[in-house]
Amino acid sequence: MFTCKKAAVLLSKYLDDDLSRGEWLKLRFHLLICRACRMIRRQLALQKLIARRLGDEDIMPPSVAQLTLSLESRQRIKAFIKVHRENSHL
Ligand SMILES: [Zn+2]
Repeated sequence: MFTCKKAAVLLSKYLDDDLSRGEWLKLRFHLLICRACRMIRRQLALQKLIARRLGDEDIMPPSVAQLTLSLESRQRIKAFIKVHRENSHL
């Protein structure tokens, strides 16, 4: 008997595309007849999506400006912005 407990264990693998054909079919059938497990699948999928997004941000390359501007250029721009800000407050 394929229970909700078994389905929950397989769901994570299912979302990673890591199930055998047999497991996949059993789980698909269970999801068709079990609303509770469909909801769990949706929540897991959302969690994985969020985790993936957060992971992507961690490995985001530095901005183009940081890569292409020399230190001197960046300091000049910072100084310009500072002067500009000070003037705009007068
Ligand atoms: Zn179920």
